[in-house]
Amino acid sequence: MFKVLITEHIHEEGLKELYEAPDIEVILRLNMSQEELCDAVKDMDALITRSGTAVDKKLLEAGKKLKVVARVGVGVDNIDLGAASKMGIIVLNSPTGNTLAATELTMGMIFSIARKIPQANNSLLSGEWKREKFLGTQLYGKTLLIVGLGRIGSSVATRAKALGMEIFCYDPYINPKKAENLGVKRLDDLRGALSLADFVTLHVPLTHETRNMINEETLKSTKRGAYLINCARGGIVNEGACAKALKEDRLAGAAFDVHVVEPAKESSLFDPAIIEKVVVTPHIGANTREAQRAVAEIVVKNLIKALSGEPYENAVNLPYMENKMTLQEREFLSLARRMGMIAACVIKEHVDEITVAMAGPLFEEVEISLPFEVPYRYMPFTAAALKGLLEVRLGPEVNAMSAPLLAKEHGISVFESRREARTYKNVLAIEVKSQNKTFSMAGTVTEEGKKRIVGVDDYEIDFVPEGWVLLFSNHDRPGVIGKIGTLLGDYGVNIANFALGRKNGSGLAIAALQLDSSIPKEAMEKIQKDADLIWAHLINLKGE
Ligand code: NAD
Repeated sequence: MFKVLITEHIHEEGLKELYEAPDIEVILRLNMSQEELCDAVKDMDALITRSGTAVDKKLLEAGKKLKVVARVGVGVDNIDLGAASKMGIIVLNSPTGNTLAATELTMGMIFSIARKIPQANNSLLSGEWKREKFLGTQLYGKTLLIVGLGRIGSSVATRAKALGMEIFCYDPYINPKKAENLGVKRLDDLRGALSLADFVTLHVPLTHETRNMINEETLKSTKRGAYLINCARGGIVNEGACAKALKEDRLAGAAFDVHVVEPAKESSLFDPAIIEKVVVTPHIGANTREAQRAVAEIVVKNLIKALSGEPYENAVNLPYMENKMTLQEREFLSLARRMGMIAACVIKEHVDEITVAMAGPLFEEVEISLPFEVPYRYMPFTAAALKGLLEVRLGPEVNAMSAPLLAKEHGISVFESRREARTYKNVLAIEVKSQNKTFSMAGTVTEEGKKRIVGVDDYEIDFVPEGWVLLFSNHDRPGVIGKIGTLLGDYGVNIANFALGRKNGSGLAIAALQLDSSIPKEAMEKIQKDADLIWAHLINLKGE
């Protein structure tokens, strides 16, 4: 008999399967203090929470029999993932149950700003009868730009199509066939896409690339009188720039469910001067009874599977017992993730294929101890490379457990291979292919546990994959590096290290500059142009 403790209010129907499971005893105890929790968790096999229970190291340690912690919803900030992984405790969440809820709110937002429904409602309730004030815009025949054609973006596309809208998308990372199948025209340039759209709706995660994606500059490209909807994440739009565009009538309306600071008490969008053009809601995208039920059902289904030793989905932490890995093995995991991140920055389109090749005794000896069944059988290094590749595009929620499943969902074929080690004792290599590009990289970890990239494409190179890295290819002729150094100096960016890779007879070189800080966008554009580079990518490898 497994004992499952529920510590927060969860949609009752979503828990039905749990209550009906013959070998599970459910204990419901709400509003416990942290001490009471530590006591209650002692002989529990699993814990179900939302965001209000601090599942810290102390609590996890108190749960001597704990095998699974399940979070109903997406965010797992309240759970000490590192500690759970080290103890072999699986952490589950439910990232998918709210797609329809978020889609339907988006549609509601589109209707609301097009017809000023909230404003008309308020006007009538305040005793007015002013029909002329609420002249709206028809959706039929209008263009809709969907930025991010993932789960929610695609679902919005289907619905907007039914309204007779013409739909474009900007999402460089999807399989082009996906847009084609949805009848959505894919555009490669965000500014160009913005200039065509009557309505722009955002459905991207918040990443290094999407933060402030809609800013003063990009807003200049929007069609005059366009409408902007953000039901994705606060921070993707610069609220001040959006308010300014509304004041200047460059935007006709904006509808936001998500805000830079939440709970949002103040925002440039709350300015009374633009109140007639703005619709705001307090992050209610996932708030439908059905979504709340669905997220609970998803978590319960996987929790039962995990407890009964069957393959489960949506685990957040690493299934491999990291504490059983050697320092070198753990460093190879971190190297694999970083190599995936670099590849994601270099290949700016949909990835069709990734191959992770391992050479050396370390990869023969590594013990993959899985506490439970998982739905795939990749080496941990492959999962880590996939995590790196996908987290740059899909956001920090991607983890080593979800990455292989997301890769499958996004049509990325994954291969593993073994090779003979030559120059280095242990080497990890990845090759990433897209329609127009193949990019490969090799890396190793020194005896002292230091990560190094030792090959990029067919060039031998040697640099540490840490911090900010400017990776570029140039014509192998004098003066290039000097030019870049001067340009970086002009913008106050310090070069910490410099590595060069040359290949006899190719006339080309590859270089990696490690920098103390990021490079402003303007400087990047200048470097690329003035130093006559073939390609250049700024890569952020900060973090664990
Ligand atoms: P998803 O991972 O299925 O799709 C995200 C898409 O964005 C992917 O296709 C990806 O390729 C694309 N993308 C990533 N970086 C991009 C870039 N720089 N430019 C263009 N496209 C880019 O995610 P989803 O489930 O559809 O969720 C979309 C967003 O909605 C997320 O930010 C999520 O957090 C948010 N969300 C909000 C609510 C709410 O309550 N308002 C509810 C659910 C989800």
